[in-house]
Amino acid sequence: MTTSPLFLPRDTLDAFLLALRDSGFERILGPMARDGAITMREIDTAADLPTGVGDRQHPGHYRLTETGHGRCFAWANGPQALKPLTFAPRETLWRCERDDDGRLAFRDAGLRHTPTAVIGVRACDLAALRIQERHFLGEPDPDPHYAARRDSLLLVAVHCSHPADTCFCASTGDGPKAESGFDIALSELDEGFVATAGTDRGQQILERLGLAPATMAQGEQADAEIEAAVRCQTRSLPGQNLKDALYARLEHPHWDDVGRRCLSCGNCTAVCPTCFCHAEQDEPVLDGGSSDHLRQWDSCFTAVHSYMGHFLVREETRLRYRQWLTHKLASWHEQYGRSGCVGCGRCIAWCPVGIDITAEVSALLGSGDAQS
Ligand code: SF4
Ligand code: SF4
Repeated sequence: MTTSPLFLPRDTLDAFLLALRDSGFERILGPMARDGAITMREIDTAADLPTGVGDRQHPGHYRLTETGHGRCFAWANGPQALKPLTFAPRETLWRCERDDDGRLAFRDAGLRHTPTAVIGVRACDLAALRIQERHFLGEPDPDPHYAARRDSLLLVAVHCSHPADTCFCASTGDGPKAESGFDIALSELDEGFVATAGTDRGQQILERLGLAPATMAQGEQADAEIEAAVRCQTRSLPGQNLKDALYARLEHPHWDDVGRRCLSCGNCTAVCPTCFCHAEQDEPVLDGGSSDHLRQWDSCFTAVHSYMGHFLVREETRLRYRQWLTHKLASWHEQYGRSGCVGCGRCIAWCPVGIDITAEVSALLGSGDAQS
């Protein structure tokens, strides 16, 4: 569902936050300019939002800028996606305890999470969330830890009007307009926001505010800004299904070239909203009385992630880069029915040596070798 557009004046943002709290969302996360980046933090009032803050992103480069105007969502994604809120970077899955007679008992780590509203979610991150849900919530064994975290979230999207130089969500078909997956979606205009609800609970929250319908001019302005955001994206992938093209190039010499530049640092997988590799380990306490079983993010760029049967499957960096790229853009189609890239551009901006997935694909495929 998407409801008729309403108009949320800028000076009612605090009333909007209050309506979220009154609807049971004890914690509100929103964008803040902190430590030189837009990061999702707990906000108390609209004054916490990054008014007048923009960003400049290039391969290996991210800087905040001043926009000189009063908008608070005039930036492209920072390093955080929704991923840490649903797939925790490190969490206890279960605990094993020994009683006085030496018997072992296994206990749940607990699945209760604070109801949280997240403001400022972008279309690419909603697309990434849908992909992660296919992975974590697919039958026959949906992950209860992921499910509990996801159920605690209410999502307020903001259609993207200021993509970065690194963004290419238009070419992957995942943005810049949030088409679904949100509870409420906002388009930011100078004087306020055009608001629509995507769920019943989103609609109930907007109804609390008694908003007037958006005017036709406001709706047209919002659409025009999204169209402009599509046109200003200069990067792209040469198709939404590159499986056959990449499988045909597994021995291409360009893997050596990118392997020489890549540091195997794993930054790209940490910031990528769809990457889900993880490792599990047990952490016993020294007295032997209990042990926690932990899951934490891992990266296919680490050598040990490919350790199997007493040897490393991917000893060289070029093989790890090839694994990442061909999984993301090729074998993901076989697993999940689509590419694993939503065009957010984070891996480009946060790669310390500026490796650019769109440029590497172009180098591998050559010009004009686009796939469907
Ligand atoms: S591969 Fe890069 S551009 Fe694609 S979703 Fe992951 S971080 Fe974003
Ligand atoms: S591609 Fe860049 S971010 Fe990813 S592992 Fe290599 S150097 Fe690090």
